[in-house]
Amino acid sequence: MTNKYKYFVANWKMFGDIRTINSINSVIRLSKSKIFINSKIIYCPPYTLLNSFVQKLKNTKIEVGAQNCHESKDPGPFTGFVNSKMIKNLKCKYVIIGHSENRTNGDTDNQINKKIQSALKNDLTVIFCIGEKIKEKKEKKTKRVLSGQLNKGLKNIKNIKNIIIAYEPIWSIGSGLIPKNIELLDNILFIKNVLKKKFKYKKTKVLYGGSVNPKNIKDLRKINQIDGFLIGGASQKPNKFIDIIKKTFK
Ligand code: PEP
Repeated sequence: MTNKYKYFVANWKMFGDIRTINSINSVIRLSKSKIFINSKIIYCPPYTLLNSFVQKLKNTKIEVGAQNCHESKDPGPFTGFVNSKMIKNLKCKYVIIGHSENRTNGDTDNQINKKIQSALKNDLTVIFCIGEKIKEKKEKKTKRVLSGQLNKGLKNIKNIKNIIIAYEPIWSIGSGLIPKNIELLDNILFIKNVLKKKFKYKKTKVLYGGSVNPKNIKDLRKINQIDGFLIGGASQKPNKFIDIIKKTFK
């Protein structure tokens, strides 16, 4: 049981079309209930649905973010890409940067750093994803990996207040596996400490992401130091998403 304010970020990845948008009606109803006092819901649909989500959620407390952005702050000849200024123009408030699925597709730490700088310049709040691979975990390199990603991704960043960290062990994303509570707590505290030392700022929110579902939320919610959850698969099913939110506060 917790009364702490929590974030619930729905990462729809490359799923959803214009017909699926009405599936979030029940989540909108939840956002008007008492439980919502302690929670912030952020939907991150694919680019094709961003504007529809912004319009649909206009008069609600639910917010909208994109799943990635190009690093260029100016328009340019980048076929197939969207920059943070375009995302901001749609009245989105957030952007996910550094998701492992994009790191796998070639995003480097340096590029991620540029994306973060450009998103902050355009007044977006960044949900910055970090996490270790299974091999790195087995070799006990998790903390080295996390501090490396934090230091490189946040190089020359001043405005830490507009950054939320999402700790997502790569081996946990979409696999049904989650870290043991003791390991997760240790890594969350480690991330908070690195940020505290680097920025002299104690309040950065650190979310957990990776296979969060209505069953394992009962264990995850016991870790009070987690400030919320980045939820992929389960967020695309409104009943599961609502169940997760409700059980977090039960
Ligand atoms: C994600 O992609 O950020 C994620 C956490 O996915 P899932 O919940 O499906 O593991």
